[in-house]
Amino acid sequence: MKIRCSIGTAKVLGLKRVKVDALPTTAYLMVGERCHFNCSFCAQARESSSRADLLSRISWPEFERESFLQGLVQPNAKTTLQRICFQVVQDKAALEDTKEWVKAVKSKTQLPICVSAGPRTLEEVTELLELGVEHVSIALDAATPEIYAQSKDGSWLDRFELLSEAAKRFPGHMATHLIVGLGESEEDMVRLLQALYDKGISVALFAFTPIKGTRMEGVKQPEMAHYRRVQVAHDGIQTGLVRADHFRFRDGQIIDFGISIDMLQQRRSGEPFQTSGCTGCNRPYYNETPGEELYNYPKSLTPEEVEAAWAHVRATTDMREGV
Ligand code: SF4
Repeated sequence: MKIRCSIGTAKVLGLKRVKVDALPTTAYLMVGERCHFNCSFCAQARESSSRADLLSRISWPEFERESFLQGLVQPNAKTTLQRICFQVVQDKAALEDTKEWVKAVKSKTQLPICVSAGPRTLEEVTELLELGVEHVSIALDAATPEIYAQSKDGSWLDRFELLSEAAKRFPGHMATHLIVGLGESEEDMVRLLQALYDKGISVALFAFTPIKGTRMEGVKQPEMAHYRRVQVAHDGIQTGLVRADHFRFRDGQIIDFGISIDMLQQRRSGEPFQTSGCTGCNRPYYNETPGEELYNYPKSLTPEEVEAAWAHVRATTDMREGV
């Protein structure tokens, strides 16, 4: 049996000698190939003509089971990795394979394990958690059912209900992924973020990234200021510093976080702009082009990066009144 590892993961496991700008602190593994679903932005979608070894803009070379498992116990892996994450394409066989991989990984390391995007029923979520998986992430991807219908198969509402039900049954163990830039407004995103955190579901934010061969290959990435405002909203809601009902919006754009930007910057500094999601997950260059300003920083920001990120937020919320 073989498994795909993100290129950065392969380097940490000693399986590839490549130069990377930042090492992943989570081992990212892909199980299955060519999804049953047909998401318009995904390289693994049923009708995508992208390379089979791509997910987002990362390449995922394949390795034999034994080399991969040996890689997990290398000194470099032991000092660098904080988590293992299985990204599972949407098909039943891949989920079954994932369970076998979870058992194999658990025999080599005590690191916490996530499974992302696999399960479709509460029973499947339960089976994964019973195997000792720490987080199960069911990707909503889109902020609203309407956006979901334009870009993905299946039903947003079914996924939201499954997440909600599972979060009630397994508090602290459910997570989701949201993609900024599929056509939603900031208000849509903020209201959903609040609803998810109120249910105890944690969120990892992604910036939409056009991939050649997908149906959305011609769509641009979100504007940085738009992404920064959503990051600040996400961080504020997650930490309880702000609530969605105290925000003000104009034409769907955040114009007031309900607390001053100076106060938010003072309290949170660069935190809102670091990769969000499970602890230890930094997804280096998942959505980013090396050399350009990063949507998600895989490590702490420099003081200059902190100022530049907040400058986006300040410049574009200057329509605020009386803040
Ligand atoms: S947040 Fe990171 S570690 Fe957690 S499920 Fe998503 S990609 Fe995996």
